[in-house]
This record gives sequence, C-alpha cells and structure tokens, in this order.
Amino acid sequence: MTLPKFLLAAALTAVASAQASTSKELEVVYPDAHALYLDLHQNPELSAHETQTAAKLAARLRSAGFDVTEHLGGTGVVAILKNGPGPTIMLRTELDALPVEEKTGLPYASKVRTKDDAGRDVAVMHACGHDLHMAALLGTAEIMARSKDTWRGTLMLIGQPAEETVGGAEGMVRDGLFTRFPKPDAAVALHVGNDYPAGMVAITPGTYNTNADSVRIVIYGKGGHGAKPDTAIDPIVIAARTILALQTIVSREVKPGEMAVVTVGYIQAGTKNNIIPDQAEMGLTVRTYKQDVRKQVLSAIARITKAEAAAAGAPREPSVDRLEGTDSVYNNPALAEHLRSALEAALGKNNVATAEPITPSEDFSVFVEQGIPGFYFSLGGADPEKLAQAKATGTALPSNHSPLFAPDVDPALRTAIAAEVAVLRNLLNISMEELHKLTATPHP
Ligand SMILES: [Zn+2]
Ligand SMILES: [Zn+2]
Repeated sequence: MTLPKFLLAAALTAVASAQASTSKELEVVYPDAHALYLDLHQNPELSAHETQTAAKLAARLRSAGFDVTEHLGGTGVVAILKNGPGPTIMLRTELDALPVEEKTGLPYASKVRTKDDAGRDVAVMHACGHDLHMAALLGTAEIMARSKDTWRGTLMLIGQPAEETVGGAEGMVRDGLFTRFPKPDAAVALHVGNDYPAGMVAITPGTYNTNADSVRIVIYGKGGHGAKPDTAIDPIVIAARTILALQTIVSREVKPGEMAVVTVGYIQAGTKNNIIPDQAEMGLTVRTYKQDVRKQVLSAIARITKAEAAAAGAPREPSVDRLEGTDSVYNNPALAEHLRSALEAALGKNNVATAEPITPSEDFSVFVEQGIPGFYFSLGGADPEKLAQAKATGTALPSNHSPLFAPDVDPALRTAIAAEVAVLRNLLNISMEELHKLTATPHP
C-alpha cells in the first residue's frame, strides 16, 4: 500500500516528534539509569540472594514517586504508580546475576566472589544483562513519573528474583503479586542479547521460546560379577538401548516440521570394569514449542524407557521423573502486532525487526499463565560494528551467560528506555475495553 504524500509526511512528522520528545526526556533520566547500571554491574548477586540489588532498585523507585513494597517472594520488589482510571500494565525486570567469572576486561568488570548455595566459592557476574534491564526500568520509571499527563491507569513495575534458577516468578505470584496488588491487564518485559545491534529491538508474535523439561531416569538391573553376566541383568546395556531408542521419538514419532529436542545430557552407572552395577541413571533435557508435542514427547520417553527395561527382564520398572520445567513464553500475537507500530514510531521503522522463536527458557511464562496477556521482546545489545564484523567472518559474538558478554551499554540502555516508554504509553492510553478486545485471542 502506498500512502498519499500528505499522510506520509504527517506520519514521518509524528515519528520524528515521538523520537524527539523521547530523546529529550531520555537525556534527563539517563545519567541516573547509567549510574545504577555501573553500580549493579560491579555488585552482582546470585539468584534468590539479590538483597542489596533489590534495596537499591526499591529506594530509587520510591524517590521517583512510586509506592514500593519489598521482600515479595523473597527479594522481589513491586512499585506502583496510580494515575487515574485505566488499565494496569506491568513491566518486569529480573534482579539476579550468574556464577560466572567476568573476563570482559572492562574498567567496571565485576570482581565479586561469594559462596553459592552448595557452599562453593564462585565468581559472580551480570552475564545475562539483568543489570541493564534494571537500569532501563529505572529510567522508564522516572520518565513515566515525570509525564503523568501523557498516560492514565496504573503502572506496576516489578523486580523479580531468581530468574536464572527458575522459581522467582512463581515465588512472587504465590506471595500475592496478583492478589495483594492489582492484577495487570498486560505484562511487558524485554531481554538484551547479541543477536541484534544496539539501537534495535525485535518482536516475536506468538511463541517466543521453548517449553523446557528436565527428566531423570533410573534403570534398575541386577548386579553381579562382570565375568558372569548370566547371573545379572545389566542396566548399562538397557540404558544404552534406551538412549538409542529415545532418538526415534523426534525422528519417527513427532510430526515433521514440529520442533522437539531430546538430549541425554548425562549417564552414570558402575564403579569398576569387572562389576555389573545394579542401576544406571541418566538426565535428559527436552525442548518443545507446543503443549501437545511436549506431552507426546514426555509420554514417549516414559513408554520407551519402561518397555526397554521390560524387554531385558529388569526386576523393577524404571523411574522416570520430570524434575523441573518451564513453560514457553507466549506473546499475544494481536498485542505484539499492535505494539510493533508504537516501537516503530519511537525507534524508527528499520530498528524494529521480527525474530524467530529461541530455545533458551524463561519464567516470564508464569505471569502469562495467570491469564495476563504478555509482550516479551528482544533488545539488541551488540556493538553494531563488532556484530557486522562477526557476521562477515561467520563467527558469533559472546552470548548471554558467557564470561565475555558485554552489551554496548550506551545505545542499548537508551533504546531499552525509549522502547519501554513507547510500549507503556501506548498501552496506558487504551481503554480497558479496547485492550481486552485486542488481547482476546486465547493462549493455545
Ligand atoms: Zn540468563
Ligand atoms: Zn536473562
């Protein structure tokens, strides 16, 4: 479709003025946000231990004018700013860092060491970029608090603990996130990464990432002398056959075109070459996009494991336990498409890409499963020149969780704030009825 010239000119002027107003507002709050980034980056804390981190964020949000509650679901922070009737929109940041030793060589690199939950001495680093998410949330909070004439409704900002260990989102929900506080009409979050250059964002309408399930299998045999296999039932042989049979789930049972991964990540059995052990243990990770495929794969794993043990005459049925799982993050497609234009107006059309679903998992899904339409989008974090060089030479920049992960902070943080403000202002200018109509598509 071609726009008439005057409309095109009007659209361009609107884009330019949206960009200009955000950039002026940005300059005011940016030094604060950047200072918080540097502080958090140098003082990272492990999952569920984000005490100082939460306190710093809470104090700043309080002085920005928010009504702040601390210690929700552990170290969780909830900050509310009411501004008349209208929808309630939630923006989430994570609080936690990772047990990774920083090797970026940056002047503000983390030198922190601590004891992890198992008592081991570990280095700590914000290797997933959650420090940038917190700094962006602060900048966004300050802009929204200073411009209450540009939106109406309730703005709900949350600092979520323990995203990396999964459980932080659930902890906050269990502690009353949506009963003690208003239940949001939509929830928003972003994540920085090196797939896109700083300055850009990417949206993924529909499924954003995978369902992730960890499965532990224990196969029971009958121990004996390695030289007398006739007196034993060898769980190692059963495990070997099981591992190969499990490969047929994706290749023979799942419909071609559906996404599924079954990986046996470890196998442990036996102590000595002349002893047949009495059991073998394996650990699996299973990734899928769709719930029905997930069910199919998990039940095939149990069926095949049990049948292989029965085929070998095992004395006891194997145990097949799903240890932990996270559900995929689902982006309400209508909401994502609607917000695409808000992001394009704020950042420029060329700076908003459409991204494929990714495989790492994330517990933002917990909020979406409470019936809240979600919009989770990607923030470019890569130095544009380095990314172009890497693409030209067929290499990749260090990914999240790498000791070398170092987002191009200045443009990435500015873009994050501009994007969040654009999304929140858009949603906080829609009536509740319109928003509910827009997000009425059911979660598949
Ligand atoms: Zn991470
Ligand atoms: Zn992360």
